[in-house]
Amino acid sequence: MASELTVELTTKKERSKPKPWQMAKVTDIIVETPETNTLRIAVPEADPFLPGQYYNIRIPIEGRPRPIQRAYSIGSSPHPDSSIIEVGIRETPGGLVSPVLVRQVAPGDLLEVRGPYGAFTWTQSDGGPVLLIGAGSGVVPLMAMIRYQIAMGTSIPMHLLFSSKSYEYVIYGRELEELSAEYDWLEVSHSFTRDPDDARARYHRRIDAQMLEEIYGEVSARVAYICGPPEVVDLSEEILLRLGMDPDGVRTEKYD
Ligand SMILES: Cc1cc2nc3c(=O)[nH]c(=O)nc-3n(C[C@H](O)[C@H](O)[C@H](O)COP(=O)(O)OP(=O)(O)OC[C@H]3O[C@@H](n4cnc5c(N)ncnc54)[C@H](O)[C@@H]3O)c2cc1C
Repeated sequence: MASELTVELTTKKERSKPKPWQMAKVTDIIVETPETNTLRIAVPEADPFLPGQYYNIRIPIEGRPRPIQRAYSIGSSPHPDSSIIEVGIRETPGGLVSPVLVRQVAPGDLLEVRGPYGAFTWTQSDGGPVLLIGAGSGVVPLMAMIRYQIAMGTSIPMHLLFSSKSYEYVIYGRELEELSAEYDWLEVSHSFTRDPDDARARYHRRIDAQMLEEIYGEVSARVAYICGPPEVVDLSEEILLRLGMDPDGVRTEKYD
């Protein structure tokens, strides 16, 4: 646990300093789904980060006087190496930044990055059982929490409720399947919103009260992390509080 505390203390201290933009090299690209790529990025002057935090990335856009920045959660574990980060970027149709990052960036390219930021974090000291609720690319910081627990060798129960359009659009799908088979403490429940038949999903609809009641009843979660579009986050938070979760235990990150 010593290295976890070191990361936590250093990150708190670093949070008070303004962070510089730095040029970082994209070393690999992993195609996750038809609309989402993981960019693996080597950050030259990396501060330690906590699972759940994000980086800002900015790129020049034609016709704009200044680069345009967006926030992207880190999906990789900070342990053992927080200088290599993986961000999972879903292309937002008609968006300024994400289509460029997904369709145009290649290995070897340099990107301007700044971070880490954010208080949506989980480490072993936050305890569990942990209910992770993610919709679409909202799974990215939740994956960092899962990968971190594996890297640290602990086994606090985690249940991921993950809403995707269909199996083809499940980010980290294969890895989640393998990890939940390997680790008793990890359970994954998929919900597919646009495929009513696929048996790999437990549910076939948007996240709703009945679904959360069922999962919450099984998990007896003490902490919950909810990430994704604002409407999913607000609804899930409201339901978990109604079910009796302590407000201090419900943490949210909205991708708006
Ligand atoms: C803390 C945090 C972490 C995040 N982490 C992730 C992550 O891990 N992965 C991820 O994929 N995303 C993440 N996001 C979301 C991400 O930051 C961007 O918001 C997202 O990629 C869209 O950016 P964009 O520039 O492509 O789209 P934008 O240019 O912001 O456009 C968004 C939408 O608005 C529409 N739009 C734009 N301008 C107009 C206009 N003038 N009139 C009408 N409609 C318009 C576009 O068509 C598009 O549909 C995160 C957000 C936050 C706040």
